[in-house]
Amino acid sequence: MEQLDRLWQYQKADLDVVRYETEMRQFPMRQKLLKLRNLVADQQTLVKGMENDTAAALERLENMRAQHEKLEAQCAAIAEKLNAEDGFASSAEAHHALMQLQDAEAKLRACEKDLSHMVRDSQHIGARYKEIRQKAIKARDEYTRLKAVYDGELAKQTEKLNALKAAREEAAKDVDASYMSRYNAIRGQTMPPMAMLVGGNQCGGCNMSLPAVVTQTLRDKSRIVECENCGRILYVE
Ligand SMILES: [Zn+2]
Repeated sequence: MEQLDRLWQYQKADLDVVRYETEMRQFPMRQKLLKLRNLVADQQTLVKGMENDTAAALERLENMRAQHEKLEAQCAAIAEKLNAEDGFASSAEAHHALMQLQDAEAKLRACEKDLSHMVRDSQHIGARYKEIRQKAIKARDEYTRLKAVYDGELAKQTEKLNALKAAREEAAKDVDASYMSRYNAIRGQTMPPMAMLVGGNQCGGCNMSLPAVVTQTLRDKSRIVECENCGRILYVE
C-alpha cells in the first residue's frame, strides 16, 4: 500500500473521531442539561438577590416601627402636658405645645401610612420569594436527576470515542512522519485535509479543475500533491 493510501485510511479514522465528538457535543440530553444548569444558576442568583432585598426591607420596616413608637411617645407626652392643669406658664406656651402636638400627629399619620405600604410590600416580596425558591428547588432536582442519566450515557459514549481514537492511532502507525506532519498542518486550516479526485480532473474538496500535469503526478502516488486552490492533499483511488 502506498503512503497516500495509508494516509487516506488514516483520514477515514480521523473523521470517524471528529464526527463522533460532534455528535457527543450535540447530544440532545447534553444540550438540555446545559440549559438546565444555566437556569439553576440564574435562579440561585435571583433567590440570593431576593434574600438580600427581604433583609433590607425588614430592616427598613424595623426602623419605621421604631420611629412610629417614638412619635407616639412624643404625642402622648405633649398631650399629657396639655391636659395637666399647671402644665404651662402662659397661653402662648400652651399654644406652642398644641402646634407641636399637631405637627407630631401629622408625622405619626404619615409614618403609619408608610408602615402599611411597607408591610404590604414585604408580603408581596415574601410571596414572590417563596414562589421563586420553589422553582429553583424544582429545577435543581430536575438537573440532578437528568445529570445522573446523562453521566451513564456519557460513560458509554466515552468508551466508544476511546475505541475510535484507538483505531485512529492504529492507522497512524502505518503513515510516514513527513506525510503525517503535512496532513496535520493542513488539518489546522482545512477539514478534511484530503480530497478525492472526482470526474478525472476535479478536486473533490473545492471542485476546481486541475491541470493535466497535476493529475498525472497524482496518479503516480509517489509524492504529496496539493490542490492549488484549497490546499488539500489530493487523492486518487
Ligand atoms: Zn481543492
